[in-house]
Amino acid sequence: MQLEDIMSESKIIFKRRRGVRRLILKVNPLTLAIELTLPWWVTYAEGRSFVLKNKDWIENKLNDYTQKANHKKNQQFILGQPYRINHLDNSQKTYKAKLDKENGVIYVISPLELGLEGVTQSIRMLQKEILYEFVLSTNHYWEEKMSIHPELSLYVKYMKSQWGNCRPRLKKITLSTELCAFNHEVIEYVWVHELAHIRFANHGKEFKALLDKVMPDWRVRSAQLKTQY
Ligand SMILES: [Zn+2]
Repeated sequence: MQLEDIMSESKIIFKRRRGVRRLILKVNPLTLAIELTLPWWVTYAEGRSFVLKNKDWIENKLNDYTQKANHKKNQQFILGQPYRINHLDNSQKTYKAKLDKENGVIYVISPLELGLEGVTQSIRMLQKEILYEFVLSTNHYWEEKMSIHPELSLYVKYMKSQWGNCRPRLKKITLSTELCAFNHEVIEYVWVHELAHIRFANHGKEFKALLDKVMPDWRVRSAQLKTQY
């Protein structure tokens, strides 16, 4: 994140404290926000130009802190690829997470007061988008192959103990956002598994025969999920 971006997103936090006689500039190592404490006689406009004058110093600090923060932060897998999470707190109440495939980074902007929970929520929104897109792009192929043409409703939400589920009567398939961590083959397997439930409610012979027919390597894919499924 460049200084220009931070300035344009109003990442400068101005503070006024009694008894302060000079401008005090700080970069917050956790939030990467620029904090400037002003004496009462200095205007905000003057504060801003003070920040600009110290551009190089701030940029060095930002680079330093960003690198350190990245080492500490968890990786997140998306479609089988590892990504570093680069979190920038946002004083506004909006969530955003963007995937930078080239550099293997997820940029997360989320409300300051929510901390790590905000990061989690932002990433789940991103996972939701990616899963929807993935299923919509492959669904036609599988519906044809399995001769299943339900007017499906697809839901993606965070589910802790299930990768997906199917309610045949409602023609409703729900996938867990957690599934987004896996590669295409595994996600496809879960999708096909749930589609098969539209025809067969349990995991009986017919159910497995259908999977064997349309996805002969489904056992290999399924094993990657590790959890009983
Ligand atoms: Zn099942």
